[in-house]
Amino acid sequence: MKETKKDIRSYTQDELREYFVDQGQQAFRGNQVYEWLWKKGAHHFEDMTNLSKETRAFLQEHFVINHIRVDHMQRSKDGTIKNAVKLHDGLTVESVLIPTPTRTTACVSSQVGCSLNCEFCATARLKRMRNLNPDEIYDQVVAIDQQSRSYHNRPLSNIVFMGMGEPLMNYNNVIKSIDKITGDDGLGMSPKRITLSTSGVPKMMKKLADDRPRFNLALSLHSAIDEKRVKIMPFNEQFPLEDIKDALRYWYDKTGTRVTYEYVVWKGINDTKEDIDALIDFCKVIPCKVNIIEYNSIDDARFEQASKQAVDAYERELNRYGFTVNVRRSRGKDIDAACGQLANKE
Ligand code: SAH
Repeated sequence: MKETKKDIRSYTQDELREYFVDQGQQAFRGNQVYEWLWKKGAHHFEDMTNLSKETRAFLQEHFVINHIRVDHMQRSKDGTIKNAVKLHDGLTVESVLIPTPTRTTACVSSQVGCSLNCEFCATARLKRMRNLNPDEIYDQVVAIDQQSRSYHNRPLSNIVFMGMGEPLMNYNNVIKSIDKITGDDGLGMSPKRITLSTSGVPKMMKKLADDRPRFNLALSLHSAIDEKRVKIMPFNEQFPLEDIKDALRYWYDKTGTRVTYEYVVWKGINDTKEDIDALIDFCKVIPCKVNIIEYNSIDDARFEQASKQAVDAYERELNRYGFTVNVRRSRGKDIDAACGQLANKE
């Protein structure tokens, strides 16, 4: 029977060292291979030039390196780049490079499709196929860092987990990928430049708080009124706002860091005074910041960006109560690369 080759990047450095010892070789070979795989981003065993030909052939025989491949790249007028990323099993996810005058942000996917059912999000129309492995998330970041260097002459500065999928529903792999992105054995980026965005899974938010991460947390709120939120984010039925508030308090208690609330204002859905008042109450729970993001159309007549006056009213009221609020413009809309538009269409 043919042995199925293992993905060598599922091994920790210690496991690789042990593997070499078991093969009657020296442990430091494991370090060398590990460095090639993560720090130097090698995609082929032949590239590992400080290993003997025999060792390279041996590895080739027993392992694979399941790296991602940028299959298709689209560039927007504003410099945004959207990548269709092919995985080793033929599935596709998307990742986006978002440039501003001062930073380059990578928006990465954590799952193929999504199991949540936000009515306003294009990714929700794809069913969840599988979780991404840590290396598949890491590779998206490496690919965007290279694009940032080639097209914008600077390295990647920030990472947001706001692509396809719900990162807290692929917890272990997302955390492992962040460990690699921030670790000295990987990209060595500062965790302060990473933001994980969740739709709000209270149990997992608490678990995350227990792990005391040093990266930022964002919550996709969109409504602070349960009856409304459940209509646009039906899974809110299982995770009511009271449970989310409880998880937020727990988060702040453990980490002492504020959370960003992402919020889209839609015409006829959450553009009244009552909605603003509810958000203001919600903002009193723990120290926070509100990002009002523009709605990116996904061809659904129920949803329409609210008027400028409605958004201004939110901004004014939040300011009046002393809360920090940013009104964000979307980028990459001409190539369907903006928030909620990722749906594997070309
Ligand atoms: N599942 C995670 C991360 C992916 S979504 C989460 O929900 O946070 C990233 C952000 O884009 C979320 O804030 C989401 O609510 C928002 N979003 C989804 N569809 C959108 C749309 N059509 N227009 C604008 N923002 C959208």
